[in-house]
Amino acid sequence: MNAGNEAGGERLDEVVSRLKSIAGSRYVSSESEGYLYDETPVLIRPEASEKVVVVRPENTEQVSEIMKLANEFRIPVFVRGGGTGLSGGAIPTSPGILLSMERMNRIIEIDEENLMAVCEAGVTLRQLINAVERIPGLSFPPHPGDESAQIGGLVVNNAGGARAVKYGVMRNYVVGLEVVLPTGGILNLGGKLIKNATGYDLLHLVIGSEGTLCVVTKAILRLIPEPGLTYTLVIPFDNHESAIRSVPEILKSGVTPLTIEYMDIESIKAGERVTGKRWPYRGGKAHLMIIVDGRDEDELIQKSEIIEGITKKFGALDVLVGSGRKEQRDILEIRSLIYEGLKDETIEVLDVSVPPAEIAEFVSRCQREAERIGIEVLHFGHAGDGNVHQQIMKSGLGEEWEDMYLRFKDFAFRMAKELGGCITGEHGIGVVKKKDMENSMPEKMMELMKSIKRVFDPNNILNPGKVIDVD
Ligand SMILES: Cc1cc2nc3c(=O)[nH]c(=O)nc-3n(C[C@H](O)[C@H](O)[C@H](O)COP(=O)(O)OP(=O)(O)OC[C@H]3O[C@@H](n4cnc5c(N)ncnc54)[C@H](O)[C@@H]3O)c2cc1C
Repeated sequence: MNAGNEAGGERLDEVVSRLKSIAGSRYVSSESEGYLYDETPVLIRPEASEKVVVVRPENTEQVSEIMKLANEFRIPVFVRGGGTGLSGGAIPTSPGILLSMERMNRIIEIDEENLMAVCEAGVTLRQLINAVERIPGLSFPPHPGDESAQIGGLVVNNAGGARAVKYGVMRNYVVGLEVVLPTGGILNLGGKLIKNATGYDLLHLVIGSEGTLCVVTKAILRLIPEPGLTYTLVIPFDNHESAIRSVPEILKSGVTPLTIEYMDIESIKAGERVTGKRWPYRGGKAHLMIIVDGRDEDELIQKSEIIEGITKKFGALDVLVGSGRKEQRDILEIRSLIYEGLKDETIEVLDVSVPPAEIAEFVSRCQREAERIGIEVLHFGHAGDGNVHQQIMKSGLGEEWEDMYLRFKDFAFRMAKELGGCITGEHGIGVVKKKDMENSMPEKMMELMKSIKRVFDPNNILNPGKVIDVD
C-alpha cells in the first residue's frame, strides 16, 4: 500500500489501524485473494497489485470516513462490486485500499405507490429481482447477463443486457443515488422523481462513470408493471446476413420484442457445453433468439406470427416457439453462459455499438476481415440494439496471436467509427479500452472529461488509471 510518496511503515500502520476503527477489525484484511480480478479475459487484463488492504464497510458513514482517510493520505481506492466487469475496472492496479461493497446489501424499500425500489449499492441483481418478484405485478427489467453483479456496479457501468431492446439500459431506471465523493462528502442526487430539470444533471454524470468519480452507496430505481407472459422464439438461418438483416424489419413491424439476440452456431455450442443443456434446433449457421411479451396467449401468438412472417421472408429455416417456463429458462441460460464457455480461449470480447440498421454490414465486414487475418471471431449478443459482441479467440494461433488480435480489434473499431458507432456499448472503458478511447475521441472531449475527473477527485485517488489518465 502506498501511503504517500514518503510513506513509511508507521504511516501504513496508522492507516490500517484507522481503517479498523472505522469499519471494525474483522472487516479489514490484507488477505486479498478473491478480490483482485474481475471477469476480464486473462490474456488482456492488467496485473493486479496484491499490496491492498481490503475493507468491507457496513454503511455510508463508514464509506465517507474511509474516503476522508484515503484522501488525507493520498491512497488509491478501488471500489469492488460483484467483480463481473469485463474491462478491468475493479482491478486494483496499484497498492491501495480495496473497498468492497458486499456488506452494503440491504433492500431498503419496495415502494409500490411510486413503483420504485430503494437499495444499497451492494445488493446483487439476483437479490433485487427476487425482492421485486415477491410483489405481484412488479418487475425490474434490465438484465445484464451475470446476476451476481451489484446495483452499484450496474449503475456506474450503465449496464445494458438482453432486454434493452424494449426496456432500455440502467440509465433509464436510475432516478436517485446517494454517493460519497473522493474527499468524503455525501451527496444525494435526484430522488423519487420522474422529472427533474434542476441544473446540470450530476446523477447522469455518475451513471457510467466506472467508479472514477464517486462511490455509489444507495440507488433509487424505477420499477415497471410486470410484462406478463413471454414466448422465446429460436429462429435458425443458414447465414448470418439473412439473420441480422431481418432485425430492422422486426423492429419496424410495431412488435417490439424484449430481446433480439444473435448467435452464431459455435457460440451456441459453447453455451451448451457449459450448461449441459440442448439448444432446441441443431442446424443452421446463425440463430436469432427473440423474446416477446404480452398480456395473454392471443397477443403472444399474434406477435410470434408477425415475427415468423418477417424472418421467413429473410430465409429462416424454421421458427421454434418456447412457451413453457423451464424451456424458456433453459434457452436463456445457454445464451447467458456463452461467455463462460469460451472464456478460457478468449483474448477479448468486444462490444462495439453501431446504429441497429448497420449491424449486418458491421458483422459482415468484420467476418471477412477475421478470415483475411486468419483469426477466429465468434459473434453473439444484442442485435436488437446494435450491440453484437465479438469474442476474439486464441485457439489455434501461435506466437503471432497478439499481432493478429490487435489488427482485428483496430479494424472493428475503425468500422464502428465509419458506421456511426462507438467502441463500447455496455462493458465500458476500464483499463482495457483506455488507449482506444483516447485514439477515437476528439481531444477537446478528452480534456473536458479530465477536467470533470479533477473536480470530483482533486487528488486522483478514486480508481486511478481507469477510463482516463489525469496528470
Ligand atoms: C457472463 C457475463 C455476462 C455479462 N453480460 C452483460 C450484459 O449483458 N450487459 C452489460 O452491460 N454487462 C454485462 N456484463 C458485464 C458486467 O456484469 C457489468 O459490467 C456489471 O455492471 C458489473 O457490475 P459489478 O457489480 O460486477 O461491478 P465490478 O466488476 O465489481 O466493477 C465494475 C466497475 O464498477 C465500479 N464499481 C462497482 N461498484 C461500485 C460502486 N458501488 N460505486 C462506485 N463504483 C463501483 C468498479 O470500481 C469498477 O470500475 C457481463 C459479465 C459477465 C461475466
